[in-house]
Amino acid sequence: MTKKTYEVQADCPHCGTHQMLHIEASEYTALPQGKAPEALSSCPDCGKPYNAPVNPDSCAEWDDFCNEIHPVPQV
Ligand SMILES: [Zn+2]
Repeated sequence: MTKKTYEVQADCPHCGTHQMLHIEASEYTALPQGKAPEALSSCPDCGKPYNAPVNPDSCAEWDDFCNEIHPVPQV
């Protein structure tokens, strides 16, 4: 059984290149409570690493499991 991966849209803050990340929920960076999780990525264009925010807006497959392990503060 393969682990579920999530497609997360990310924009490089350095050059603006858009990319789609395929990450497992366990790869999300755990952050202090009150902050949305992030996924470490590197830009395919300029090669710089950056943290892509993972939230219901950037992840089309955000589900209950995500909420459970990485609760996103309601606004
Ligand atoms: Zn870039």
